[in-house]
Amino acid sequence: MNYKSTREINPSNVKSSTFAALHGLCEDGGLYIPEKLPDVKLTYDELKDLSYQEISEKIIKLFFTEFSDEEIKTAINNAYNSTTFNDKNIVPVHKLNDKVSFGELFHGRTLAFKDLALSLFPYLLLLNKEKQQEDKKILILAATSGDTGKAALEGFKDVDGINIVVFYPKNGVSPMQEEQMRKQLGNNVEIVAINGNFDDAQSAIKVIFSSDEFKKYANEHDVMFSSANSINIGRLFPQIIYYVTIYVNLVNAGTIKAGEEFNVVVPTGNFGNILAGFIAKKLGIPIKKFISASNKNKVLADFFQTGTYNKNRDFYATNSPSMDILLSSNFERYLYYALNEDSKRVSELIKNLLSGGELSVSDKELKNIQNEFYGEFANDEETVSAIKKIYENYHYLMDPHTAVAYSVYEKLDEKHLDKDIHTVIMSTAHPFKFPAPIAKALGIDDTKEPYAILDEVSEITGVKFPEKLTEVRNSEIRFSDVIDKADIQKFVKNYIKNLK
Ligand SMILES: *Cc1c(COP(=O)(O)O)cnc(C)c1O
Repeated sequence: MNYKSTREINPSNVKSSTFAALHGLCEDGGLYIPEKLPDVKLTYDELKDLSYQEISEKIIKLFFTEFSDEEIKTAINNAYNSTTFNDKNIVPVHKLNDKVSFGELFHGRTLAFKDLALSLFPYLLLLNKEKQQEDKKILILAATSGDTGKAALEGFKDVDGINIVVFYPKNGVSPMQEEQMRKQLGNNVEIVAINGNFDDAQSAIKVIFSSDEFKKYANEHDVMFSSANSINIGRLFPQIIYYVTIYVNLVNAGTIKAGEEFNVVVPTGNFGNILAGFIAKKLGIPIKKFISASNKNKVLADFFQTGTYNKNRDFYATNSPSMDILLSSNFERYLYYALNEDSKRVSELIKNLLSGGELSVSDKELKNIQNEFYGEFANDEETVSAIKKIYENYHYLMDPHTAVAYSVYEKLDEKHLDKDIHTVIMSTAHPFKFPAPIAKALGIDDTKEPYAILDEVSEITGVKFPEKLTEVRNSEIRFSDVIDKADIQKFVKNYIKNLK
């Protein structure tokens, strides 16, 4: 399978999957998408007896056609096993009641859904490097709103030939997320806090990736850049797998029948998770409606309601920090499909967004979009209330991102979401990553030290303190750099100069 840019109008300008995954972003600033999506219609019958790993093989093969079956199998078995995930189903489904289930995406090493892609991504990247006969050192630059950083660090730690630098907003991640990163082990990792927000970090990295001067500088030092952010196809496509397994699981559990449609509500930031679901639908998974759930940074919810995406607005630090994003990078890929793969139209709209901070689709386009997608938001108070309510009624503890999604589910009326159809809420993190909102919901003093809060939460709820967090708790801080957002590029140059 070949890949092209979302902005490319010349049909012959395509790249191999290995090239696309190795380089991350297209030269023209667009995002790689398959030249044509695989022409398959997955059915329950062919999936029902397959393990997570076997379904993974099926999906990855469709998108990375240059790898042998053996290479894919090895990568998958390294990525998804009992040391990398603490649940044998990898993604278990928790049925709340007849209307709602939770797809638990947080059983990996860093307790967030990013583990599902980032456990596999390093193996794919090494294969891509080999196939492209690339012997330069790879430098991964990643911007994180908390969870990508840690999951990427765990995925890449001590991998030969690869170094990784992660930038996170100093006051924009939870204390647990920050601890997890600052205590990261590995000899090829670097973690830097910036005075700025996630968008600042992501933009600075995008500039580096698309700058000729930077490329030349890296080249002179025998280094090439790659990205671990969800713009990379090696990050995006592994996320299709869990939509497929959740469907199979729902049917196996008798929650829905084979072929019966279900809805998904996805706590959304960079639009990677929900986009993977959309592609899963194109491969035959019967998903009826996609609900994009936002926190107070509701740029996407506004788009799905009004047809205008406007990033010129105040930025809020919320209690669901992994969604504190105003410039959602995978949204461009969604636009491409929503606008019938019209790259010219995509380029035009993205140009408006980049120059004026705003893009609008036509009323007709919006109507089409709303048939399949809708967006809504929940603020911090609503998030805490949802955690409290679901805990009190069901003894099920949601993390704040999941709670945003649940809150949005409750807010939507029948016009925008048919609630006779079963709905899966994508549960994107373990609640223990976000002590403060959980404390508020359970009536615990939230000014206490985070670990003390978690001990109390564990005692009250009976939720076991996750082993992976105990490991973090007992290790030393290794990284303390804080730099200004304007100095990110200088930092990267220096880092390259000192790479051995
Ligand atoms: C990254 C993240 C999200 C947002 O996912 P996108 O793919 O960026 O839309 C939501 N919740 C949590 C906990 C996350 O880590």
